[in-house]
Amino acid sequence: NILISACLMGVRCRYDGKCQHIREFERHIPVLMERFNLIPVCPEVCGGLPVPRVPSEIRQEDGTAVIAADGTDVTDAFSRGAKKALMLAQQYGCRTALLKKRSPSCGSGQIYDGTFSGKLVPGDGITAALLKKHGIEVLGEDEVLKLIQR
Ligand code: SF4
Repeated sequence: NILISACLMGVRCRYDGKCQHIREFERHIPVLMERFNLIPVCPEVCGGLPVPRVPSEIRQEDGTAVIAADGTDVTDAFSRGAKKALMLAQQYGCRTALLKKRSPSCGSGQIYDGTFSGKLVPGDGITAALLKKHGIEVLGEDEVLKLIQR
């Protein structure tokens, strides 16, 4: 069982009401579905945020506050969603999660710097960080081959 960002599977749960179209990733979906039981999750929707919604980024000063572009503090919703994603992963015994890179929830290794200027900094999204803390491997969509080739 693999936890996967719902937007990568065609669910329109992104902040802009769209799904994530990445042609390079989408061509691997049939193989992924054949090889694994995919458990889709959108932590931001699970945390109670609507679709569409104002985009958010993690403020770098303290590393945990998530602030929407209109200044609203959405940290609680992000952490609620992260906990629900973790519960789902544990319920299904997922040891790996394949998550959308650079998202303030799902991103691993690199996220936007909190200034809404498009600048990336090293770091993890709220959900990716919680999953890792509980021993779940987090891969980005560009690492899908790593998973398939196992
Ligand atoms: Fe996709 Fe994750 Fe953002 Fe939901 S929270 S839209 S699953 S990247």
